[in-house]
Amino acid sequence: MDLNFLRDLRRDYGAAGDFAMAYVIAHEVGHHIQHLNGITEKVYAKKNKLSKKEFNKLSVKLELQADYLAGMWAHHAQKMKNILEEGDIQEAIEAASAVGDDRLQKKAQGYVVPDAFTHGSSKQRIAWFLKGFKQGTFAAGNTFK
Ligand SMILES: [Zn+2]
Repeated sequence: MDLNFLRDLRRDYGAAGDFAMAYVIAHEVGHHIQHLNGITEKVYAKKNKLSKKEFNKLSVKLELQADYLAGMWAHHAQKMKNILEEGDIQEAIEAASAVGDDRLQKKAQGYVVPDAFTHGSSKQRIAWFLKGFKQGTFAAGNTFK
C-alpha cells in the first residue's frame, strides 16, 4: 500500500487522525478479503465484456464492499478490544467522505461525472462503512445485489 496516501489524506484532504488511517488500511484489508473470496476475480472477469460505464458500476460495488468490510473490522475490533476513542468514527466518516468520487472529481476538475465513478460517492462510502460498523456480518455486506 502507498503510505504517501496516508500523508496526503491528512495534508491535502483534511482527513486527520489515527482512525482515518485505520479506515484506509482496513479498506485495503477488505480488498484482500474480497480477493480470498474470489469476488475481485469475478468482477475483473467481466471487465472485457462490459462497457467502461458498466464496469465502473461494478467497480463502485467492489469498492463500497471494501468500505463495508472496513466498518465490519471496526465493529469487531471494538467488540473484542474496545479500541474506539471519542471522535474515531467521525474520523473514519471524514476520511470516507474525503475519498468519495464526487469530492475528488470536484477537486480535480471542478465538476462531477457519476458515470465515471469507480469508488462511490462520499455519501455512499460513509453509508457502507457505517453499515458494516453497525451490522458486523458478511451477510449484510452484499453491495452487488
Ligand atoms: Zn479500494
